[in-house]
Amino acid sequence: MRLALNAITDELRRLKASGVSRISVSDEGIAALRRSFESRPAPAGVPLTPVGEPGTTADVPRAPAARTPARRETPAPPAAPPPTVTLPEGDKAARWAALLQIVRDDPVCQAKVRPGRKVVLGVGTLDAEIMFIGEAPGAEEEIQGEPFVGPAGQLLNRMITGMALTRADVYIGNIMNWRPDLPPGGDGVQTGNRPPTDAEMAHCLPYLRAQIDIVNPRLLVALGATAAKALLGPKAFGALGEVRGKWHDFGGKPLMVTYHPSYILRNPTNRTKRLIWEDLLKVMERAKLPISERQRGFFL
Ligand code: URA
Repeated sequence: MRLALNAITDELRRLKASGVSRISVSDEGIAALRRSFESRPAPAGVPLTPVGEPGTTADVPRAPAARTPARRETPAPPAAPPPTVTLPEGDKAARWAALLQIVRDDPVCQAKVRPGRKVVLGVGTLDAEIMFIGEAPGAEEEIQGEPFVGPAGQLLNRMITGMALTRADVYIGNIMNWRPDLPPGGDGVQTGNRPPTDAEMAHCLPYLRAQIDIVNPRLLVALGATAAKALLGPKAFGALGEVRGKWHDFGGKPLMVTYHPSYILRNPTNRTKRLIWEDLLKVMERAKLPISERQRGFFL
């Protein structure tokens, strides 16, 4: 029980440090926690589940499943160095296809993606002028293998439509190529999402850089604090308000930071909608897109 409590408090501390002030816990999650605290102490000498086994992660503590023997603490293995991405010569499509294969073949990605789920690379035109960068795939994205296809994706689509563009006119990527795991509920299905750890982001960042290299967009747009921290550095800001709505630089490209669509879903006020829209107007101006009077007065 102490192990489970330590794991949970560690994770809550980590979430708090990364700026998360609220989390939602499903009824199944609460029931699973209750069951694990009610379970008897583990007998001595139970075999350990090897760290890195598919479905487990070395850096993310998991609460033990109900009535299964408690796991002994094992030291986390040293983090694997971030991958070095070498793409073949060729046109954008050939290089992108080669990158997708590299990500699919990456043993770390393979270990992090659960059976029946997919790694997620970006989507859109490889000639995009504007690249949106989100945080990590969620439930829908890991099923379809495409970024922003769930509720946040619907809102991102509306943002893009408001700019008089379509998804096919831009490129949409994520910092992460897999959905950060949480202990599944009693039905074996993960319900919530968590922000990626620094180690997870460090592993996937070379793949995002490779996509930026292939697409070579004019402008980047970071959606939310996690994407902004991954691109600007973990210490670059405290609250997102310090950096949003301003131009920054990532690898020599102008980078606009704005809210994540999920934030608007959680705080659907006219003020937040207008703020994100003002950031997008700045992106349109810099991309030299035509802006109508209606668009200037618009909010999502
Ligand atoms: N949120 C993200 O940041 N990325 C997705 O692909 C979906 C939701």
